[in-house]
Amino acid sequence: MKMSRREILAGGCALAVQARAGDVSAQQRLVMNDASRLNPTPLFRHFYVRSDEADFVAALRRELKEAAAVRRSVALGAARHSMGGQSLIRNGVAMTFDIDQCELDRTARIYRVHAGTRWHQVIAHLDPAGFSPAVMQSNSDFGVGATFSVNAHGWPTPYGPFGSTVRSIRLMLADGTILTCSRNANAELFALAMGGYGLVGVILDLEVEMTDNMLLQPRFEAMPAGEFAKRFIAASHDPAVPMIYGRLNVERERFFSEALLVSWRKEPTPAGGLPPPARKGALTGLSRQVYRAQVGREWGKSLRWHVERSIAPMLANGTASRNRLMNEPALNLANRDQRRVDILHEYFVSPDRFNEFLEGCRRIIPKAIAEFLNVTLRHVKRDPTSMLSFATTDRIAAVMSFSQRIDADGETDMIKVTEALIDLVGSIGGSFYLPYRLHARPDQFARIYPDAQRFSQRKRHYDPGLLFQNTMWNTYFNF
Ligand SMILES: Cc1cc2nc3c(=O)[nH]c(=O)nc-3n(C[C@H](O)[C@H](O)[C@H](O)COP(=O)(O)OP(=O)(O)OC[C@H]3O[C@@H](n4cnc5c(N)ncnc54)[C@H](O)[C@@H]3O)c2cc1C
Repeated sequence: MKMSRREILAGGCALAVQARAGDVSAQQRLVMNDASRLNPTPLFRHFYVRSDEADFVAALRRELKEAAAVRRSVALGAARHSMGGQSLIRNGVAMTFDIDQCELDRTARIYRVHAGTRWHQVIAHLDPAGFSPAVMQSNSDFGVGATFSVNAHGWPTPYGPFGSTVRSIRLMLADGTILTCSRNANAELFALAMGGYGLVGVILDLEVEMTDNMLLQPRFEAMPAGEFAKRFIAASHDPAVPMIYGRLNVERERFFSEALLVSWRKEPTPAGGLPPPARKGALTGLSRQVYRAQVGREWGKSLRWHVERSIAPMLANGTASRNRLMNEPALNLANRDQRRVDILHEYFVSPDRFNEFLEGCRRIIPKAIAEFLNVTLRHVKRDPTSMLSFATTDRIAAVMSFSQRIDADGETDMIKVTEALIDLVGSIGGSFYLPYRLHARPDQFARIYPDAQRFSQRKRHYDPGLLFQNTMWNTYFNF
């Protein structure tokens, strides 16, 4: 299979060749990376399927059979924005699906979507019909099947993670069998695949709930950080507030002392209809220059907080459609310094333990060498379905962004900060999110995901040849 440069980049390759790596010399070895740029992984082959590929299912079945015959592992992926090799396996086959297919059932208020469809494509299908995805991440670059596989959450409320809005999936197992899985049929496979990081089979397509698109107006409220949890939870349960998030200040001296609560309320639809969902960064409202000025500069962090807390609300004269808010490209505030990389962390804590979480973060984060750029706070309802659930009770999610140096000191520092933050959330009954760097110690992973061993046993039952693997499997499960 030949790959164009666009396809290679879409798959996140650092270096790639068109032949199978097994056929070529070491200099031409096929190496792919993920969004962190910290996981260069040599591969045997990149199986990349585009929209115009003829018989996707037959080609996929052939590829799995061929890999299984020689005991070669397969790692699945879409946009490869996970950051710890969750979509890659050394010397294996990396599969990338990039297939734009989405059909709406307006009466049932669901859409059937190919797993490889990206969220901006889903929005382009739903928007003209007046609908919007019920839950997705805060950026629209990711694949829908991948979103189910990490069980991502977003900032629409009141919802659990994405899986809570998925009615069913079609899953291809290692032997090529295709099963429809839902809460009623093949329920164990549904629970394993939801937040299962591509380890039980290939998700082909999904039936997902949609909701009405609508016009929304933001309301900004600044407050001491200690008051945030109570007011945030109250607003999250207000039916007049369909989308909500929070932010905290990040200067080292005054770390996490102030909060901003941004709630979006429904407005009447204008006579001319809702505005189109342009991918222009309606959500961030921050210029890239102001955001990046925070790296290495405490005054930059104060400036950014001043802009976000005081200036942006004054300038925010606008309403935006729900779809526009969700159609945010990940690249908006992206780092362009090749010596650094933005690394995400995410922690989930019960609202009644949130102030203890803040206190712990104040002790840990300002001491880090890494630059702490942002935290966004979300509300996530309990997820009772997924076997690797990160929200066993209702939670406040803290999505953190660090700018890290790409060198040994930068890595060491990041490992220490991550371990300390996971110990903190572990001590207050919280959890951490799995699609980022694999810096959690195995004992931390086992404590926070107590069903991991059962997950591993059931994965082995459905995939006895261990065809589906990735770096996360080898780090935490494969013992
Ligand atoms: C800028 C940024 C913002 C983010 N915002 C959020 C957020 O708001 N909320 C949130 O919850 N997360 C967020 N994340 C994390 C994000 O949801 C995950 O990293 C997600 O995996 C990204 O999707 P992807 O298409 O890049 O997945 P990939 O990294 O390509 O894959 C992720 C996992 O899905 C599996 N997978 C992919 N396709 C399939 C398939 N067809 N069948 C079975 N398994 C499959 C892969 O094996 C892998 O384990 C964010 C990440 C970034 C970088």
